[in-house]
Amino acid sequence: MSLNTKGVNTICTHEGELKDNTYKGAVSPLYMSTSYDFLDVDSKRYPRYFNTPNQVSLSKKVAALEHAESAMIFSSGMAAISSTLLTFLKSGDHAVVQNDIYGGTRSFIESHFKNYGINYSFTKDLTVESFENCIQENTKLIYLETPSNPLLKLVDLFAVAKLAKSQNIITASDNTFASPIVQNPIDLGIDIVMHSATKYFGGHSDISAGAVASSELIMGKIWDLSKDFGGNLSDYTVWLLERSMKTLGIRVKAQQKNARKLASFLDKHSAVQSVFYPGLKSNEYHSLAKIQMKGFGAMMSFELANGYDAEMFLRALKLIKPSMSLAGVESTMLLPYKTSHSLLTESDRLSQGITNQLIRFSVGIETKSDLIHDIKQAISACNSKR
Ligand SMILES: *Cc1c(COP(=O)(O)O)cnc(C)c1O
Repeated sequence: MSLNTKGVNTICTHEGELKDNTYKGAVSPLYMSTSYDFLDVDSKRYPRYFNTPNQVSLSKKVAALEHAESAMIFSSGMAAISSTLLTFLKSGDHAVVQNDIYGGTRSFIESHFKNYGINYSFTKDLTVESFENCIQENTKLIYLETPSNPLLKLVDLFAVAKLAKSQNIITASDNTFASPIVQNPIDLGIDIVMHSATKYFGGHSDISAGAVASSELIMGKIWDLSKDFGGNLSDYTVWLLERSMKTLGIRVKAQQKNARKLASFLDKHSAVQSVFYPGLKSNEYHSLAKIQMKGFGAMMSFELANGYDAEMFLRALKLIKPSMSLAGVESTMLLPYKTSHSLLTESDRLSQGITNQLIRFSVGIETKSDLIHDIKQAISACNSKR
């Protein structure tokens, strides 16, 4: 249930903004102080305590967007995710982790959990049963990420949240791919929502940041560890991120609108073997997407048919950038087998459906016909059968 009755674009533009009482400027002033008065104050302010004026201001916007009581801004998505995981997992605890998750999160779990004595199981697939099958007596947390990268598979958030609640297990979901404009996991019963704010929140491929949103109680616990880990974001970047987030709603909606059109264009194209986008009626997650999402997002992937060289295709693009990362206003594409999944063996990759023909597409705000034109010309350029 929403704690805020304002419309989403009003929240993006105004929620949490700081008033400039001295000069009556229109935007939040930037407070760069790292040193604040300690006499006669309720709480001592310091950047690493996540409580400088700009941090508090932007946290309110994030909390409102995710229908949460409280939020915190971090220096990266991984700072937000690692601080959250280590808050709720102690030596001897067990976590159930969704199989298909962001590579950095997977690496954090596989490389470091053993040093903390934390046990974990990866689910077999994304069904609720496979989450249930992994639960042990000492399971303290279930970790989710939907839609997943790069095949845009969905997890039934409501069902997993219900399962977790029945066993007193906390749930944390990475909402980066959807953004709060498209999906609010807390409304579905998920406890904690995390974001790489480097992606849609920033939206211009020039900010590294992260965010976590949850109840006051849970955020208090995350704060307690995070202030000692020190993953806070510089106030200047917090201020820039506030500016970016004013357009989050209109950006994501424009990107999503383009994505729907491009997905059906690709779906009909003879050079395209398959398209993975929950907005397509033929997609196996389409009906779940309609229930738990407010749209289908702007991320997709597709496979070129045999005879079309995927790398040559990317090199032939003139407008869309072959580029890492995602969610900027500019359209980008990448080859998962050369990037996010490059460390897997070929057979592991193929068993996960990551072929060398698979291209991930982060759809931007450019004019749709220009994007279609670029894809068409790049397809002709990479057709070895011609
Ligand atoms: C990029 C990303 C992260 C990590 O965020 P950083 O800002 O790079 O630390 C986590 N989850 C998802 C889904 C991402 O795309």
